[in-house]
Amino acid sequence: MPDKTPAPQELIHFGTVGSPQTTPTSGTPAAVEHTRLLGLDHLEIAWVRSVTATDKTCAEIKAAANQYHVTLSIHAPYFINLNSQTAELMRNSDERLLKAARTGYLAGARDIVFHPGSYHEQPPEQVYERVKEKVIEIRDILRSEGVDVILRPETMGKTAVFGTLDELVQLAREVDGVLPCIDWAHLHARSGDGSFNGYDDFAATLQKVKDNLGDRGLKHLHCHLSGIEYTAKGEKRHIPLNQADILYRELMQALVDFEAAGVIAVEAPEPFHVSDCLTIQATYRHVLRGGELSGGDY
Ligand SMILES: [Zn+2]
Repeated sequence: MPDKTPAPQELIHFGTVGSPQTTPTSGTPAAVEHTRLLGLDHLEIAWVRSVTATDKTCAEIKAAANQYHVTLSIHAPYFINLNSQTAELMRNSDERLLKAARTGYLAGARDIVFHPGSYHEQPPEQVYERVKEKVIEIRDILRSEGVDVILRPETMGKTAVFGTLDELVQLAREVDGVLPCIDWAHLHARSGDGSFNGYDDFAATLQKVKDNLGDRGLKHLHCHLSGIEYTAKGEKRHIPLNQADILYRELMQALVDFEAAGVIAVEAPEPFHVSDCLTIQATYRHVLRGGELSGGDY
């Protein structure tokens, strides 16, 4: 009998940002169940306009996640800006992030993803210090309440907003309880000409995470991925993989080579929301198995 080599361990879990568009009924608990039926392992709940879930709904989401073994993250509202320019705007922004974290934690999520803020044409170093101050303040409030979450500022696709990879890696290195959400499409778009693309760029990014954050970063990655259209100023919009130039297979190869672990949440426009997620998951599995194909001879 030939030795049966065990299947390589899948270290990356895949899911959609927002309920899979094929979910037959509304509500997040149904989306969690449908995520499992699709063979996906994660759901990023998109509370991107506002956070309205009740305690009862949160309990239902948490129970569904436990029952179907689906991990959860939260995408906090878009209208968060840690560099808000008036006291009132800053207060509102703080409240949105705090509420997303508190409510998300109640629903069983650990990772709270948010868009960190705008430069408002101020020097990036100055904005960095402000963002750092704010994120420490928010983290301390949450910790004092026993809200045990990881704050995940996202790498941003437009050059006018705070959130380069270097800024977020530095922030994570300096602030406990903070890790980047690495949006690969945004990094690709932010290069302006799409030059951030391909194995060497992806591997260099993972190396940077490893060098600066160690296993805390590399074994707990939280990523976004999709096709993306861009201009010299960066991100224009998300597009389906079949219209995009991002070399996602090479990204999967880099993730496998680094033995990176964590989550990839896929943001693709309908009707490609679910199918792009499944394609990326299948590509990861294919690469993990050394690129071997099976079946297909009918
Ligand atoms: Zn986002």
